[in-house]
Amino acid sequence: MTDAAVNLVGKSRTELERLFVAMGEKPFRARQVMRWLYTRRVLDPQAMTDLSLALRERLTASADFRLPEVLARERAADGVIKWQLAAGHGQAIETVFIPEDSRGTLCVSSQVGCAMNCSFCATGHQGFNRNLDAGEIVGQVILAARELAAEDHERAVTNVVFMGMGEPLANLRPLLEAVDVLTDDLAFGLSRRRVTVSTSGLVPQIRKLADAARVALAVSLHAPDDDLRNELVPINRRHPIAELLPACWEYVRKTNTKDVTFEYVMLQGVNDDLSHARKLARLLRNRPAKVNLIPFNPFPGSDYRRSSAAQVDAFRDILMRAGVMTITRRTRGDDIAAACGQLAGRVNNRVSAPLGSKTLGERLS
Ligand code: SF4
Repeated sequence: MTDAAVNLVGKSRTELERLFVAMGEKPFRARQVMRWLYTRRVLDPQAMTDLSLALRERLTASADFRLPEVLARERAADGVIKWQLAAGHGQAIETVFIPEDSRGTLCVSSQVGCAMNCSFCATGHQGFNRNLDAGEIVGQVILAARELAAEDHERAVTNVVFMGMGEPLANLRPLLEAVDVLTDDLAFGLSRRRVTVSTSGLVPQIRKLADAARVALAVSLHAPDDDLRNELVPINRRHPIAELLPACWEYVRKTNTKDVTFEYVMLQGVNDDLSHARKLARLLRNRPAKVNLIPFNPFPGSDYRRSSAAQVDAFRDILMRAGVMTITRRTRGDDIAAACGQLAGRVNNRVSAPLGSKTLGERLS
């Protein structure tokens, strides 16, 4: 293998066909390699036995099947697994597997860090370094699937959520390439409703996603009015609630999905007042919306505190009485800092301008 070898991990059917044709091979070689790589998760071209010996030799010499390097692997008491994966220059991203009775959800990262600077999020506190490419995103899924299969055939990745480190819609092209692979029948074959993209509210990119992929959409809302949301999710200054919510309803209509999930982290004394619940109910009732109430997961350097269980219940009851389907998410993996909002990895921050400043805003648009 040379340094210039092309990493085939993350390549879609179309890209692989193009590559094989450029090599003077038939396009159907792409489908053969896809089955080996994505269905059987075989990374050694010599083991791809339905390829000709000559092609196996060529792939060995000129292509690569490279997964992210595992730096650490931790397992929580509740079965959640967190991988810390090398992202170059001493940095690391994190990937989390959450086993449930009827499914296995893999939470993948899309960036090294995040520039969105949401005030309650450990990733946001670390700053942003770079986007991941499609190979690094899909590589997280192959890696987890291989390790799970090696230890227990009962457990598999049935759902993928882009809720790890990063704002996936700020890295749109690699995200779409990865979704293409995840939903291709010759690759992972996940149905589109089993792939969820979670955004802090990049409205133009929500529109682009609607045109390009009909996956499930989740939005980090966390506040029912602009004053509070500007504080918690600074991108709101650029795309306020009155712009964000119509984009969500349009997404549902265009993609024929059932609803949008609104995530709402419950911060004691900040956004958990019952008046906030009533405002939220007014925004979402009679809309294709459901709400996930998320207990805040503390991380070093944060002053926020988790709302009491009674407050979360009262908040949920107001939404439910207004007809807004509301679920309180159970905290998983918090003993290994794998819970929602706790992923930190290691990031060399390259963002000096605070979010909301023109410089960064321009970079995001
Ligand atoms: S909540 Fe999401 S968008 Fe906001 S800083 Fe954290 S990773 Fe980024």
